Amino acid sequence: MILYRLICSRGHEFESWFRDSETYDRQAAQRAVSCPYCHSTEVSKAIMAPHVARWTEEPRRPPALLDESQAALRAMIRELREKIAASTEDVGSRFPDEARRIHDGEAEARAIRGRASFEEAKALLEEGIEISPIPGPPEESH
Ligand SMILES: [Zn+2]
Repeated sequence: MILYRLICSRGHEFESWFRDSETYDRQAAQRAVSCPYCHSTEVSKAIMAPHVARWTEEPRRPPALLDESQAALRAMIRELREKIAASTEDVGSRFPDEARRIHDGEAEARAIRGRASFEEAKALLEEGIEISPIPGPPEESH
């Protein structure tokens, strides 16, 4: 039997007996060893203090590549939204009515943007009025 001094990811130290070092390694890998204070299964040997310190200082993050592609995608969406905003007239909640008036030739033909509920957008499409959603979260104002 081996007595190991262990430390969990929250810094609780405790002692636990294992049949041998392989048993500890296997149980730790299977997350079968848990902290008696907080039940965290992220435990390691207390003597591996440098590892634990680095572990807690650097929160686990998704791979950098994912971060970068997400940032690039967000930038593209922002750019597209700015282009849409610059080339269209904001009619806010009057969008469904205004789109219909333009379609029927009652209003000046121009590019507009605004808000429409799912039902309103569906109705417009069914009437053959060409609309498309703006990517990203809905605009805050209007
Ligand atoms: Zn703990």
